Amino acid sequence: MAEQLVIIGSGPAGLTAAIYAARAGLEPVMIEGMERGGQLMITTDVENFPGFPDGIMGPDLMEQIRKQAERFGTRIITSNVTEVDFSQRPFKVWVGQDLYEAESVVISTGASARWLQVPGESRLTGYGVSACATCDGFFFRDKELIVVGGGDSAMEEALFLTKFASKVTVVHRRESFRASTIMSDRVLNHPKIEVLWDTAVEEVYGETVVEGVNLRNTTTDEITNFPTDGVFVAIGHIPNTKIFGDQLDLDDAGYIVTNPGETLTSVEGVFAAGDVTDKVYRQAITAAGIGCQAALDAERWLESVH
Ligand code: NAP
Repeated sequence: MAEQLVIIGSGPAGLTAAIYAARAGLEPVMIEGMERGGQLMITTDVENFPGFPDGIMGPDLMEQIRKQAERFGTRIITSNVTEVDFSQRPFKVWVGQDLYEAESVVISTGASARWLQVPGESRLTGYGVSACATCDGFFFRDKELIVVGGGDSAMEEALFLTKFASKVTVVHRRESFRASTIMSDRVLNHPKIEVLWDTAVEEVYGETVVEGVNLRNTTTDEITNFPTDGVFVAIGHIPNTKIFGDQLDLDDAGYIVTNPGETLTSVEGVFAAGDVTDKVYRQAITAAGIGCQAALDAERWLESVH
């Protein structure tokens, strides 16, 4: 018999959907993926999630939310979904050879930060290298930072970091920003921000924490050393939607399109929540909120068709 609800992905969005769906008696099955818990698993201190006045480590927070989902009877499968077929109900969700049939589906597979893939970057992630100013900016009071990228995210990160840092240098590989004029102008006119045009980061160095970067001028290839306390990489995110591309409407950047104000996707009975559909807010708490909405939308939809 088909499951009532299969949830794909186990970040704050998926787990919150599971808590609500389980408490509503839908006995959800969550296919949590091999990298369970999502981006919070690679975050250290989380100080902006309500309810934890002393902060909490990202993995601890996810473990607690996961326990809460299990407490109400969510069945959790630790594997990756390999293929889906949403062309008719019950929907089909494959995990390798195993087939799960579902009356409704919530997709919460998240997005992954795009990284520079240069030496030192992954070793020093969490030790001065970050892809989230909102998460980590607070730890860089009176420090000098660089932000890599030339889109709206880089502008937003740079402006946000000026609240803490003594100086922010935006490093961009070309001679002009891709970001909107309003955001670019704010950055260009900010007294604490400098821009290095035509510049790429070649290496991040530091023994235990970031001490600096080696930069390459992209027109002359000249390499220079640039001491810095932190590197914020803001060169975009990649939504994890590869397996849904031929099944659901995605926008130009690959995010799942949902009806305005709802979590319903282009297929009735398939809902999406969290970073897989949100390129603006991308916070654990907003993902959790949309996960709740997705569970409520799925529950109402199931009631309407049965
Ligand atoms: P984006 O617009 O794709 O910009 C990515 C930036 O990173 C580009 O400047 C790109 O350089 C650079 N880049 C990409 N790969 C790189 C690499 N390997 N090395 C160095 N630089 C690299 O991504 P985004 O800024 O995350 O924005 C995504 C979407 O969300 C956009 O539609 C944006 O408008 C929207 N957004 C809006 C807001 C807002 O309105 N408040 C805030 C954030 C995001 P090139 O320019 O040379 O390609």
